[in-house]
Amino acid sequence: MIMNNLPQAVKEYFPYANVRPHQDKFIETVYAAVREKRSVLIEGSNGLGKTVSALSACLPAAVENDLKILYVARTHRQHERVIEELKAICKKQQISGVSLRGRNQMCLNTFAAKNATDARSLMEVCELLKAKDSCPYHRAPEEQNYEYLQLQHYITTHPCKASEIQRICRKKGICPYELVKTALPDVNVIALSYLYVFDPVIRTAFFKNLDSQLEQIILIVDEAHNLPETAIEIASSSMSLFVLRQAELEAEKYENKDAADFVRFFRKEIERLTEKIGQEEIISPESILEIIQKYGGTSSPRELVEQMHDTGCSIRRCLLAEGKNPRSYIHGMSEFLLRWLETIGDNSYINVASRYTTREKTKTAKLEIVALDPAKVTEPVFSATYANVVMSGTLQPLQAYAKLTKLPEDTFHCVLPSPFPKEHVLAVVCLGVTTAMDKRTPEMYHLIIKRIIEVVHNTPANTGIFAASFDVLNTLLATGLEKALNKPLFYEQKGMSSKANEKLVAEFKACGKGDGAVFLGVQGGRTSEGVDFPGNEMNSVIIVGVPYAEPTPRVKAQIAYYERCFPKLGREYGYVLPAMKKAVQAAGRPIRTLEDRGALVFLDYRFATKYCRGFLPSWINDGLKVLPCKEEVLAREIRTFFKL
Ligand code: SF4
Repeated sequence: MIMNNLPQAVKEYFPYANVRPHQDKFIETVYAAVREKRSVLIEGSNGLGKTVSALSACLPAAVENDLKILYVARTHRQHERVIEELKAICKKQQISGVSLRGRNQMCLNTFAAKNATDARSLMEVCELLKAKDSCPYHRAPEEQNYEYLQLQHYITTHPCKASEIQRICRKKGICPYELVKTALPDVNVIALSYLYVFDPVIRTAFFKNLDSQLEQIILIVDEAHNLPETAIEIASSSMSLFVLRQAELEAEKYENKDAADFVRFFRKEIERLTEKIGQEEIISPESILEIIQKYGGTSSPRELVEQMHDTGCSIRRCLLAEGKNPRSYIHGMSEFLLRWLETIGDNSYINVASRYTTREKTKTAKLEIVALDPAKVTEPVFSATYANVVMSGTLQPLQAYAKLTKLPEDTFHCVLPSPFPKEHVLAVVCLGVTTAMDKRTPEMYHLIIKRIIEVVHNTPANTGIFAASFDVLNTLLATGLEKALNKPLFYEQKGMSSKANEKLVAEFKACGKGDGAVFLGVQGGRTSEGVDFPGNEMNSVIIVGVPYAEPTPRVKAQIAYYERCFPKLGREYGYVLPAMKKAVQAAGRPIRTLEDRGALVFLDYRFATKYCRGFLPSWINDGLKVLPCKEEVLAREIRTFFKL
């Protein structure tokens, strides 16, 4: 379709001669919403061209009103894709843009990058190093020479990928993170991770560099189905017994008797408390308050924890002065306890104590502050920006999403039809199989394996299998899945490093060029949510079971919290929706472009129920076939689809 139907202002930016099916509707909806300073919640499948559409639709309002576009997405690949589209747009209009990576990705200082455990701690280490003028890559304003200013000018006038900036800066010995930071106030579009916008601590620091307020921002949230979970992670925190033991050693090393006495006392009390619990228990927040009170006597718990915090801060300064990693366990412990005290009385948090086994097979315990309300993180952002474009391939039901994240009341809602030709997708549910807890018998697993074989043996190359949990995955293996297959099997293991996982996926993908292989992973895992398998990299995908979470105390608390906020919808929002989102994400792995063909096989009769089907996107649900529990029926369907 040619682009005649697009609004004139958008045509100035949209870089392609043709629009894809439904892409014009996507653009018009976003353009109309943003022009009216309203937000839009929009579902559109992969292959629709959402990135370039959202950018082209937002740029007219951004340029006219001197606004900045922040495009948040999860992976670096997605950030770089934004810059690639901006480079295409630049052939029509000069627009600047940068993909921003975290300090931990950009930092050239090996000491800092190696020693900080996460974005927040690296931010602190970096700030301390700069304050002491100890980072050779940092250029204070008076040290910024012509070459530096030239690079800065280039970034403010062109779309630049983080990887390109990194390469140039490495050669010139300049910190790429700091260089980009100084250019940010003059850049039109910034592609970055969710944390820069939704983590309040990181946001405060980031917006200082931006020289803008949220009101001057058009926010595009890509893969927005991830946001509620990410928001909950941002607002939650944990502290293990390991941290307490290290804090005690640290206090002894620094001969700080007060700190050592407190941490020892506190550790012993926490050990006593967690000894009695099962795997996971909700504990009263006051129980920790009482422990601190018991030790502190007349001092208030807050005063005591603040003293520990001061001690932690001075240890960090000492370590830095000695040229060492400025990590203080006392600091970490006190930050956690301050947060614990702050959240007492707030019913959108629960406090959890749990026992677990470490990778080294040691049994230990931890305390957690678990956030239950994603809106506590998202609402302050959504309500303050100029407009929000919240988009993904899986957002339905939109009403639920809008309520959970508290998008503004006047947000536009839009679901676009699938652009995939119907004949490219076979979606089937098999009756007679399930992973429901009370039906997990050896006979059931044998039956599931039979169905898997019917798919694998009739698929031209690669098949992906995504199990409801590691428990189901391991039982499939123990029941003889590998032996029953006529193709090599690659399987995920719990706790696998991301590097090992990437290698596993690459080897599996390569088999798509030959006779094919089978990949076995879990729904909600790294592979089922973050890796694309176009073409022969995955012809068929099998979803084994509905990935309902174990009904742990925190899951029950989440359901109860949502029930209080949204009467009669607690179970749906806290239990069913997250499971169905995982299943749909996994099912979408083989269908990434308009040319892809894929067989989607749901091995659990529950997917055929009216209730569950209500959570499937229309591109799966509309043509979903329900197959009887009979031998060879599934095999015939798969054979016919692939025309073997
Ligand atoms: S200034 Fe740059 S190179 Fe130096 S520590 Fe900070 S991020 Fe790393």
